[in-house]
Amino acid sequence: MAWFKKQRKPIEPPTDRSRVPEGLWVKCPTCSQIIYNKDLAASLSVCTKCAHHFRISASERLAMLFDGAWDEHDKGLRSTDPLQFHDTKPYRKRLETTIASTGMRDAVITATGNIKGRRCSVAAMEYGFIGGSMGVVVGEKITRAIERAIQERLPVIIVSCSGGARMMEGALSLMQMAKISAALARLDRTKLPYVSVLTDPTTGGVTASFAMLGDVNIAEPKALIGFAGPRVIEQTIRQKLPEGFQRSEFLLEHGMLDAVVDRRELKETIGRVLRFGGAGEVRAASPPPAVGVTASAGPDGLPH
Ligand SMILES: [Zn+2]
Repeated sequence: MAWFKKQRKPIEPPTDRSRVPEGLWVKCPTCSQIIYNKDLAASLSVCTKCAHHFRISASERLAMLFDGAWDEHDKGLRSTDPLQFHDTKPYRKRLETTIASTGMRDAVITATGNIKGRRCSVAAMEYGFIGGSMGVVVGEKITRAIERAIQERLPVIIVSCSGGARMMEGALSLMQMAKISAALARLDRTKLPYVSVLTDPTTGGVTASFAMLGDVNIAEPKALIGFAGPRVIEQTIRQKLPEGFQRSEFLLEHGMLDAVVDRRELKETIGRVLRFGGAGEVRAASPPPAVGVTASAGPDGLPH
């Protein structure tokens, strides 16, 4: 007879509900429905039977939101591996292989274009690029997208899809949380709206900074949103978490979100939010405030 016995069952590994696999037919991981790939694309990668939201790429996201073509910004920015980081392989090598496989330089695309006829500054994160992690480049690109919005008086929309800060850039990636939040504070002072869209997954430093700072925070159904992942919390507090914990609906119920919106209605909803906020209207009377490098103290003593 054993002296010690395991009292609890081991924690079950998460089922992977990642992006749409390659092929002609796709099986929905929730309802097991077999869906024709083209039908899935037509319904914005949402299962037509049970409304399971497949993960989509940043470029698919932009195509879904914008009315037509968009202008991409800061495309050439890439990480310089400031810490010379090594884990299972050198970070520099990891960057090279990810850039080759995704065709992107880092985990976010920033662009300007029209949403429901209103020009917007949009940032969409790419989970396929090292888990959508936020490093120096992501921080810089999002900050520039916000500053561009302030200069041109545009509303900001950030679509988060991220595992959090990028550990290969250590404290430098954590600094991006403060940098982006400060840029959002400047945006707030100009009375321009910021809509945060949280998709599966939005965790770590992204949740702890800009993803939760929207004037309106909208999430996709059943998206994982939290700071630490459920497995880490379960291992720390040694308790089973309640059903649906850290999912959009749970957060909405507890006042952390403003709405949970189906992806097929997302563009319509964002358009309505912008219309409600009066965004995109030409306001000739208010000149664009100085931003970024030339910081000068404002009436409140803070740099503008
Ligand atoms: Zn389904």
